[in-house]
Amino acid sequence: MFRNEVRKSNIKSFILGGSAEFTIYQEAKDGKEAQQAHYKVKISKEGNCYFVRVNNVYQGCIYKKQPYLLYTKGAKGNNTKATKALLWVLNHQGDFPDEVHVLHMGTCACCGRKLSDPLSIELGIGPTCRARREEQ
Ligand SMILES: [Zn+2]
Repeated sequence: MFRNEVRKSNIKSFILGGSAEFTIYQEAKDGKEAQQAHYKVKISKEGNCYFVRVNNVYQGCIYKKQPYLLYTKGAKGNNTKATKALLWVLNHQGDFPDEVHVLHMGTCACCGRKLSDPLSIELGIGPTCRARREEQ
């Protein structure tokens, strides 16, 4: 539907790739306006949590524990609408409505390199990083 749309079944792996950059776009529906925000979700050095930025403002971190929650200690931003949308997407592994789209920026969610082949573009993760994740 959209170019750079992450395949729904791969969205969680994509968002938690370690260096994901993406937009969540929600089409207008039932009288609600369309919504869109830009996200960066980076894994911490220790590898235990993910730092979340929305429209380039730090919003808090998410620990690797389900259900995913946002810890806002030290956060500069308070974009509740956008962080709620992110958590909702993470906690609804792909079973979410057709009007919600996760769109990547053309770079790998793990290493940030440019994606080139069609499968990588569909998954949002390049071949080298996919292979490495399968080994783990
Ligand atoms: Zn990569």
